Amino acid sequence: MAERGHAKHDTQVREFAGLRYVRYAVDRGPRGRGTLCLVDNADREIRVIPAFPHINRVYCLAPGLRKLFGDEPFFAEEKMDGYNTRVFWHDGRLIAATRGGFVCPFTTEWIGLWKERCGLGQFFADHADCILCCEICGDVPYHCQRDPRLPPGAHWFVFDIIGPGGLFLPPADRHRLADRYGLPAPPVFGQFTAGQIEQVYELLRDLNERHREGVVLKGTHGHPVLKFVTPNSDLTDLRHALLHQFDLQVGFFRNRLLRMTLFIDELGLDQQDYARRIGEAYLDGFRPLQSYHESSEVGDVYVRSPETWEATRAMMTGQVIVLTDSVEPVELDGRPMLKIHFRRVFRKSTGRYRTILKGFPHTD
Ligand code: ATP
Ligand code: MG
Repeated sequence: MAERGHAKHDTQVREFAGLRYVRYAVDRGPRGRGTLCLVDNADREIRVIPAFPHINRVYCLAPGLRKLFGDEPFFAEEKMDGYNTRVFWHDGRLIAATRGGFVCPFTTEWIGLWKERCGLGQFFADHADCILCCEICGDVPYHCQRDPRLPPGAHWFVFDIIGPGGLFLPPADRHRLADRYGLPAPPVFGQFTAGQIEQVYELLRDLNERHREGVVLKGTHGHPVLKFVTPNSDLTDLRHALLHQFDLQVGFFRNRLLRMTLFIDELGLDQQDYARRIGEAYLDGFRPLQSYHESSEVGDVYVRSPETWEATRAMMTGQVIVLTDSVEPVELDGRPMLKIHFRRVFRKSTGRYRTILKGFPHTD
């Protein structure tokens, strides 16, 4: 399970349980950040796992749909809120890679568990050159805001398939393959056109009321693709993120305030209600500063072996510190597992808030 890596300009040669690969830490020509290039012992390339591309966001739905899709139909799928993973088959085993291009010990272990309960093994027996793009949700290491409706453990949803030529399969082909092999997928709400904007608004109002993250809209050939998220999901992010704001990208809050405001206007939601809730999200989010200790979030993960957790923890540690608070043997879905309760401490925010609360002067 041990993984070794060394920095080499903007690429790193890494190793995961005997699998050697080059990780692209930044974009380099046609190879985007997050590309993995599998190599042999002499560092000759065996196979390239392409980076997962950014999905564009629209802020104004009606003109955005017209601009991107014209009169062409598109699929609306639920945008699942977890972390992005590419799953591929190599040399007789299943491997899961993160968006940043690391082989993930945690997800790779879970993929092995999911394989026991669906047609994943058969899928790769029939389509060895495909790559499954999945969102991993539930009790996971990278994402502590978990959907309470999911049962304990990690859950996966296949939202795209990259074909042997490196292109995304059209959504309808992917839906058929997911059905045929029993692979879990995000809910598909159907096909729409820009002319059916009222139906799209209705769908988004419903997702907003159910506190779902939003939609990804995909042309019937697999492109263009765009994302649109709900204000209730932005409000949850906002409240949750205030305590570690110094570890986030500049623009995190500004961007959410802009898109919430535009959504509330375009979909005709209650302005007064949102004005109150945006204010409350700020006050609630900052309330822990009254008895402040650190900026951290806690979560649980279930793993088969302690080494899987240690390797994952080591991989995540950097700007954040990941601490193990407790380890408990449990049975999950008929399997013996370890339930790990962990804490992720945001270093930069913890330092900044501590000095602010001790009264140190700051230059704005
Ligand atoms: P970026 O802006 O670089 O794409 P991000 O992590 O901020 O990164 P998100 O706002 O979460 O991106 O939106 C894009 C991500 O949504 C995808 O990378 C994918 O992991 C996830 N996703 C969830 N459900 C779907 C879906 N049905 N179709 C496509 N992507 C989905
Ligand atoms: Mg996401």
